[in-house]
Amino acid sequence: MNKIFTLLYLLILNSAIASPNLIIILTDDQGYQDIGFNGCEDIPTQYIDSIAKNGVNCVDAHVSYPVCGPSRAGLLTGRYQDRFGFTTNPTVNPENPIAGLPLEEKNIAEVLKQAGYSSAIIGKWHMGTHPIHHPLNRGFDHFFGFLSGGHDYFPAKYNLKDLSEVKRIWDWYRTHLIRDRERIQVSKGYLTDILTDAAVAFIDKKAVEKKPFMLYLSYNAPHTPLQASDKYLKRFSHIKDSKRRTYAAMVSAVDDGVGRVIKSLKKHKIEEDTLVFFLSDNGGPLKGPMPFTDNGPFSKGKGSLHEGGTRVPFAVQWKGTIPAGQIYKKPMSSLDILASITALNNLKPHPKRPLDGVNIIPYLTGEKNSAPHDKLFWRKLTNQGFSLRQGKYKILLDNGRRDNSYKLYDLAKDPGEYKDIKNKHPELAESMFKEWEKWEKELKNCIFPTLEEVWWKR
Ligand code: CA
Repeated sequence: MNKIFTLLYLLILNSAIASPNLIIILTDDQGYQDIGFNGCEDIPTQYIDSIAKNGVNCVDAHVSYPVCGPSRAGLLTGRYQDRFGFTTNPTVNPENPIAGLPLEEKNIAEVLKQAGYSSAIIGKWHMGTHPIHHPLNRGFDHFFGFLSGGHDYFPAKYNLKDLSEVKRIWDWYRTHLIRDRERIQVSKGYLTDILTDAAVAFIDKKAVEKKPFMLYLSYNAPHTPLQASDKYLKRFSHIKDSKRRTYAAMVSAVDDGVGRVIKSLKKHKIEEDTLVFFLSDNGGPLKGPMPFTDNGPFSKGKGSLHEGGTRVPFAVQWKGTIPAGQIYKKPMSSLDILASITALNNLKPHPKRPLDGVNIIPYLTGEKNSAPHDKLFWRKLTNQGFSLRQGKYKILLDNGRRDNSYKLYDLAKDPGEYKDIKNKHPELAESMFKEWEKWEKELKNCIFPTLEEVWWKR
């Protein structure tokens, strides 16, 4: 009898938690170790750390590509982005309807609409600049931010009305911000704070409606240009290197923002109804002799299929459901976010668009102890790069020819990928490579011009 009551209780509990609010806080180009919960010493991040403290630090979590656009296309669809040809950053061209997330793919806002969620994207979109790709035409109910892959941080620099006034590459960093479908004039402030204001306003509005919401808070910080306001810079006067100092200040602004978001959840007493993910969209860039980001023990960074490019700071909290204070060590993926919220809402993926992510929640609650992924795949089409993670092993060719020159690493012993052990395990390496080739047959080539193929040259 007791068992029946327990089962009934679990059923009721499960139905009660089926549709949590979802908040995805995404940073841009933040290094694996540029966060307190991964051991950063010079940039305190108490509020982001609180997500890991109140939930889980996922120490072996990956994005599906080591640069912005494709990584986000994977995250937002729960599918390897090469399945639909989003293999690189698309050109910024408001006249090109192909340069964006294909319409037949469904992003997380479009998916959650079926379960009655209302969704906002605050910050960087990067999924296309043609009007058909506008977030409000792609399932989102609210948009505050910018369409392109980056932006200046000080509104005083925004002197272009919209993308039609762009004459040179990167000029889109100075376009006016967009609220829903309108360009708006903001004359003061600091972009990271402005995005946080919009995020908190959205939570304040939605919390009282008592319907599930999804907030995709897509900060462009700490992506270049390195720009920070005095409020944050003065916290880091002890950092000598000026680039690192500014970068630290930018991370600190995000941390304050995360603190305000968490505080608003507390204020509305919806922490136990809200699943929060925090992650970076790729590893920290390591340009120049004095890189200002830190990917910890991992090799290389942004743009590379080495761990430094794809393994990112990643934390999850869901108070009352996911036990607090955990470190989760098995490999997982940003693709799991959409798969998790889809499963929690009992939504079935389209048979023609199966998900590559898995529902990670039972693994984080301890209900499942197996590995969520047998394999994780990556491809860099333009420079022939590829990698496959299988358990503790990884085969990798970062750049080069698609021949036998790839390497095999044991990440348990060698997280920095310094020691090629292919000669020791040739059969394992060969079988992994065959698995990777099989996977590649399911992929498409790039469907759009790249970022460098700028639209005014057409
Ligand atoms: Ca990025």
